[in-house]
Parts: sequence; structure tokens; C-alpha cells
Amino acid sequence: MNKKDYYEILGVEKTASQAEIKSAFRKLAKKYHPDVSKEPDAEAKFKEAQEAYAVLSDENKRKQYDQFGHAAFDNNGAGGYDYSNFDFSDIFSEIFGQGFGGFGFSDFGGFGTRQRGGSKGADRVIRLDLTFEEAVFGTKKTITLSLNDTCPDCDGHGGFDIKTCDKCHGSGTVTAQQQTIFGAFMTKTTCDKCGGSGQTYARECSKCHGNGRVKVTKDIEVKIPSGVDTGNQLRIAGKGEAGANGGPNGDIYLEFFVKPHPIFKREGNDVYLELPITMSEAALGVKKKVPTLYGDITLTIPAGSESNDKHRLRGKGIENIDSFGKGDMYIVLKVKTPQKLSRDQKKLFEQLAKTGLDNDKEFQKINEYLK
Ligand SMILES: [Zn+2]
Ligand SMILES: [Zn+2]
Repeated sequence: MNKKDYYEILGVEKTASQAEIKSAFRKLAKKYHPDVSKEPDAEAKFKEAQEAYAVLSDENKRKQYDQFGHAAFDNNGAGGYDYSNFDFSDIFSEIFGQGFGGFGFSDFGGFGTRQRGGSKGADRVIRLDLTFEEAVFGTKKTITLSLNDTCPDCDGHGGFDIKTCDKCHGSGTVTAQQQTIFGAFMTKTTCDKCGGSGQTYARECSKCHGNGRVKVTKDIEVKIPSGVDTGNQLRIAGKGEAGANGGPNGDIYLEFFVKPHPIFKREGNDVYLELPITMSEAALGVKKKVPTLYGDITLTIPAGSESNDKHRLRGKGIENIDSFGKGDMYIVLKVKTPQKLSRDQKKLFEQLAKTGLDNDKEFQKINEYLK
């Protein structure tokens, strides 16, 4: 399933400013709003633009998208970023003017559905260690979290059998008489028993003691996209602490720490391997078996190779997380001088030395400066 790039949908550059993103979305919304548009598949186009705008207009989400592409929202439900809680009302009233209610926009999100009253639960950042291979190829992990979650017994209500508050008789306020030197005054205050709602529960929930939230340990399954690196943060929406008074849950941010690999080194999406070769292999050339991330290959090392000579294997690097294609692999040769010679080897090197191995231009260049 190849999803279209959000920048492409809005027709802006990756470096576009918020003002450019907004103005691009405005144009599309005007063109494709299903209630005003005569275009074919206006609704699909409109939804696509809404999704792209909901992500790119939020710097946090945009950063996630820039890092991970559509994979950033893989853990948020199927088929891309869920923008149903995004509030489009400000921008739509700018575009279509106030009083757009008559259009019946509510089906398309943002107009009829106003934010709920409760406050959002706390976000959590969790460090996740990955092996080199897990980061390169992606993986699924189960993470155990200990956090405040909606009480399962009372569904977050804090009690059972709703009834009218017996202290304020449902009004939410209590009237008290205050005696002063000027006489008696009546003062109205919010009912402390029901918090002003006018309703209480006949039985308080014994699991959460009326709180509506309980500390729970729960496992969540997360899909780690291929190509993540140390320091990347992946947002998992709605899996953090429970919100208060029906507010949305907080988010989880997974921060990755990728353990080093014994032989492969990573630079961006490229992979480096230092390959030791002997002096004779360097001089004579050799075919060598070399491990890569995708299995062994045979590398032809030409005669006359030197230390730091690089061989590039196109596309054998790490998958780009934010776009198509892969990085490359570089094999960097290290010519090893033997540290301990047997008597025979020493003899052979001495014979070799007499044959004049120092007839190279670079040797002569130094000789010119000898006094
Ligand atoms: Zn009350
Ligand atoms: Zn409860």
C-alpha cells in the first residue's frame, strides 16, 4: 500500500513554512470541500488534504512524519493518521466565513465535533533499546507500562448507580446563610459533594475509590519501522495516561537507543565495514567473501589496493525511513602489516625488499629533499 506523500498532497516543498502549508490547504479545501465542490472524487481528495494538513500543521507531528514517513502513525490505527480529533473549525471559518453550519460540514470532521471538556492525560517518554538489526529491519515489541489508566470496574466514572446529589438536590450549588453585623446574607457556593454536577453515585467504586483512574501495568504492542536510529522518537497516540473527566489519553513517545554492532557501523542510512586484508592480498589482488546486512557477497579487490580504499555497494545500506530507497554499504580496506614474522616469512620479506619495492614516485619525491 503506497500512501501519497503529505507534502505532495498539499503541493508544498518539504521546507515549506507553516504559512505556506496553511495557504496550500486553504486552496485545496476551497476546491474540494464536498459541500461546495463539483469535482469528481472531491470527498476523497478533501479527506486526503485534511489528513495531510492535520499532520503538517503541527510541528510535533510534522517532525514525526519527516523522520518516519507514514510509518510514524502505524501504531495509531489503520490507514494513516487519524485526524478525527483535529479541530479544523478555525481554518474553515477563515475560508468559508462564519456561519458555515448550514453546509452540514459535520460529517467531515471538525465542525460538529467540538473538543471534549476534560483535560488530556500525561505524555510519557520511554527509552527503548534496540539491536542494530532490529533498528535496521524494524521489529515488533511488547512494552510493559505502569501508568494511570481508566478504571476498568467503573469505566472511569468513579462509582455506580447515578443519582441526584442529596446535598444540593441536583442544583450543583448550595446556599448557606451567613450572619454578619448587617444581618443575614445568603451565599451560593458550588456543591462540594458532587463538584457542581448535581449528580453523585450511589456506590463509590472500591477499585479506584471514586477517582476513576487506577495504576495499572499493561503491555502494549508496538511496531518499530525499519531504519530507525538512536535519538529518533516515535509517538504512539493515545496510549499514555488516562485523561481527566473524559479527556483524551496522553501519548507515549518511544525514544530509541540502538546498540552498536560488532562489525558494522552506521552513518545515516549508509553502513560501513572495515575489512582487513594482508599485504600480499593488497599487492596481488584477491576475491574475498564479505558479510553484508543482506547476506554474504564476494568482493573483488584489485591488485595494488591500499588502506582506506573504499568499495561501494549500492543499495546495501539501510532503508530510508522517510522516503523510498536504501542507503549504500561501504567496505573500507585496511592493509594489515604482520606484527610477528616467522623465520621463513622474514627471509621472504628480505628477499622481496632487495627487488626494489620503493620505485614508486612518492618515494622519489621524498628522496629529492634529502640533503
Ligand atoms: Zn451536589
Ligand atoms: Zn473505579
